[in-house]
Amino acid sequence: MVEIVGLHKVFGSQHVLQGIDLEVNAGEVMCVIGPSGSGKSTLLRCVNRLEIPDAGRVYVDGVLMGYREKRDRLYDLRPKEIAAQRRPIGMVFQRFNLFQNMTALENVMEAPIRVAGEAKDIVRDRAVSALERVGLGNHCDHYPLQLSGGQQQRVAIARALAMQPRLMLFDEPTSALDPELVGDVLDVMRELAQSGMTMMVVTHEIGFAREVGDRLVFMADGRVVESGDAREVLENPQNPRTARFLDAVL
Ligand code: ATP
Ligand code: MG
Repeated sequence: MVEIVGLHKVFGSQHVLQGIDLEVNAGEVMCVIGPSGSGKSTLLRCVNRLEIPDAGRVYVDGVLMGYREKRDRLYDLRPKEIAAQRRPIGMVFQRFNLFQNMTALENVMEAPIRVAGEAKDIVRDRAVSALERVGLGNHCDHYPLQLSGGQQQRVAIARALAMQPRLMLFDEPTSALDPELVGDVLDVMRELAQSGMTMMVVTHEIGFAREVGDRLVFMADGRVVESGDAREVLENPQNPRTARFLDAVL
């Protein structure tokens, strides 16, 4: 479902991704952990092309992101074409960035109508289902300020789901939340994983990684230091750096 090959990203003099190779199979949950600044967010952002890699390729569902391949040559896609490639990829950030002047339902309906140009009544039904799925069926008419941080983050997840994604990217979706609100968001993500969604999840929630993650990737200094079965890596890390990191966070 996701194939990342030789991915490099440079910001100024900083070589932030130094050759990342990863594969995520359909229906798999890959959790990514690592110290601050190791390149985790940049990696996710390169997958849906919010960042343009300096080298390497990303395939999502067989589609080469950012380029058209013709007779062994690559041609840059136009912004509109890249937007179309991005459509089946949902992303949830640490900050939920809901439109404050729109209700939960309007927030969820916005992208399918404005970005995908779908009909309003079809989108409304789907948006209500998405909100029900994240446990907010009774909060459709609430504005973001009338919702807790955890509820707002669940609206953000519903907003991504309303685009009917085939891949979901999560970048520390619970790290801005009060501790008592984290569980509800993780429950929604667990349910999504169990429904067969392919997911890449940058997280500090090691418990979630152990329980829900199929694969765990430990990144440091722009490289994949260790990658493997989530439980195996957590119980028996092979690289001393992984072990030190886990000792510090567990
Ligand atoms: P954290 O755990 O703190 O979120 P991270 O692993 O997600 O860290 P990134 O956000 O990917 O790390 O950043 C990796 C490095 O790239 C950092 O040193 C950061 O300052 C730098 N960086 C990220 N985005 C940009 C940008 N748009 N311009 C310049 N430098 C950037
Ligand atoms: Mg980050």
